Amino acid sequence: MFNKILIANRGEIACRIISTAIKLNIKTVAVYSAADENARHVSMADEAVFLGPAAARESYLLIEKVISAAIEAGAEAIHPGYGFLSENADFCRACEANNIIFIGPSLHAIESMGSKSSAKTIMQSANIPLVPGYHGDDQSPAVLKQAANDMGYPVLLKATAGGGGKGMRQVWSETEFDQALAAAKREAINGFGDDTMLVEKYLASPRHIEVQVFCDNHGNAVYLADRDCSIQRRHQKVIEEAPAPGLSDQLRKDMGQAAVLSALAIDYRGAGTVEFLLDSDNAFYFMEMNTRLQVEHPVTEMVTGQDLVEWQLLIASGENLPLNQSEVKVTGHAFEARIYAEDPDNDFLPVSGTLNVLEAPKESENIRVDTGVRQGDQVSVYYDPMIAKLISWNQNRELALQDLSKGLAQYTIGGMTNNLYFLYNIANTPAFKSADVDTRFIEKYHRAIFHDSEEQANHSIAIAALYYLLTQDKNTKQNNTAKNDPFSPWQKTQAWRMNAAAIQHFSLQLKQQLYFVQAEYLIENSSYRLAIGDQQFLVTGKLEKKQLAGTINQSYFSATIKDQDDSISIYTEQKAFEFTLYQKSFSDIDDDHHDNHLLAPMNGTIVSLAVAEGSKVEAGESLLMMEAMKMEHTIRAPVSGVVNNFYFQAGDLVDGGAELIDFTPDTESSTES
Ligand code: ADP
Repeated sequence: MFNKILIANRGEIACRIISTAIKLNIKTVAVYSAADENARHVSMADEAVFLGPAAARESYLLIEKVISAAIEAGAEAIHPGYGFLSENADFCRACEANNIIFIGPSLHAIESMGSKSSAKTIMQSANIPLVPGYHGDDQSPAVLKQAANDMGYPVLLKATAGGGGKGMRQVWSETEFDQALAAAKREAINGFGDDTMLVEKYLASPRHIEVQVFCDNHGNAVYLADRDCSIQRRHQKVIEEAPAPGLSDQLRKDMGQAAVLSALAIDYRGAGTVEFLLDSDNAFYFMEMNTRLQVEHPVTEMVTGQDLVEWQLLIASGENLPLNQSEVKVTGHAFEARIYAEDPDNDFLPVSGTLNVLEAPKESENIRVDTGVRQGDQVSVYYDPMIAKLISWNQNRELALQDLSKGLAQYTIGGMTNNLYFLYNIANTPAFKSADVDTRFIEKYHRAIFHDSEEQANHSIAIAALYYLLTQDKNTKQNNTAKNDPFSPWQKTQAWRMNAAAIQHFSLQLKQQLYFVQAEYLIENSSYRLAIGDQQFLVTGKLEKKQLAGTINQSYFSATIKDQDDSISIYTEQKAFEFTLYQKSFSDIDDDHHDNHLLAPMNGTIVSLAVAEGSKVEAGESLLMMEAMKMEHTIRAPVSGVVNNFYFQAGDLVDGGAELIDFTPDTESSTES
């Protein structure tokens, strides 16, 4: 076994590899860019070598620098992780030339599988079933189009050098072909510097099933079960699971054996993944082989009880495969969800910034978290914006899915838009629960997964509103205990709130929709009457840690709630919603600094002023009307008092949070109760 290895990667996968190295007493050398000086992978390694500026092509992709770092540190081998240089033939060659072991397959295997066309040609000779299509050398547009016409539409154009779903175009008819080809070629040139294309029959709603294979240098080969990676957005994986649900033992075995044959066809060594499409008739077709460790390898580890990085290290150091096929056992079921800093509501646009709050669920036999970041770290614009992988395992699929769902509801990420709600909604879609999955799942269940459905939203707005009201109460009480001051502003607030006519106003925004909430506290049954749009809800509940349970119009609910700054996320048993809160109702003001301030609850326009400056007003009286997102919102007097001054006039634009009115509460009336 090696004494020291270099990890030519960053983020969660670098950390993942270092963990196994630590377990095996192997010293580790990290590499890092200017953006990663304080990154987790650097702190976990024994040594770290600086490569260059943040941009990957000036740091993590610099073959020479990585090789000299390994030589200088005395590392005998390099683990490339996934992405970056992991499938780069030049890098593999440079390792060989410098007597450094590349922890991965041979140069020949990388080269053969690096092009989807040459991979298909090799697999065809090995009698592995292929997706019907054209993968020839003649790249003239007329030939490609004729191939498409012959196989019938729809077809899929794929860049042979492609990856990560890029350089792909669906073509639905001959008339679209030329344009689609041109677009796919442009994307391929930009992404991979190579616009060679293949044409495949586009399968209607296949499943993506892949098989993990391992080969050693002594002619042994095994497959370590299969994974279903059908849940995809833009041809990229989102949630994966092992084993693939619902396959017959025979089909599983056939696919496993086909995967091993594929690996043997190219004299494979180390960890590899053979990807297949499975159609509704249970026919499977080779799609491609990835000659590296996959992002989703943990689900295989969870069900086989094996450490795949350890296997890679053993094989690279010349040892035999740890198990033969009959010794590979699959126990239980595992899921992995990829948690990203991205906006599912905005076409999955990547997001960058600081992870102000990052609280992962507690790790256990059932929950594993693979991550490369800690609270306070940056998600930078330079790299893949993955925050973590949440992995669950349990005795069966149903239980493992419950663990995944619970883990997603518990995961707290503050300061950054992320896809937690989206993952949670996929996990809780009835079709996913019953394993009715295919690669068009997200498209099919769009309404259930995204923030679309208003009727479902109403229920959770009531929960969000109740949460806000209850936490206000709690904060107020805590403040009171701390200050223990009978004349503190809290007293005023409470006095007002205890009034029969204690009415508060605030707004909750869901996606582009703003909901105005009027809440009235009913002291006789400790509940709130909520008016949200034209709907009325009678709500009551109890909050314990992040769990809120109670009733809405007398029907029971329970939800996990997370709040950060002005966002409140509600995870009900069916669906998750994320609201933005615009409070600025007087009752949440617990500090006398703000007593005479009334703030704009959102960006908008002043429509009209309702009273004259200097007016004495009663609690609840309208002072000013605002318009935001085509809806009008009234700013009311929180308590009785005097309007000294308006800072804006009708027609003015104001920013959310701007002070609108200089208001002096009438102290006498607000302290009586
Ligand atoms: P990449 O290397 O860019 O990830 P793949 O060839 O692995 O591309 O395909 C990615 C995904 O695209 C697959 O998982 C599948 O969902 C979809 N896909 C690929 N080929 C086909 C096809 N012929 N028919 C239908 N869907 C396909």
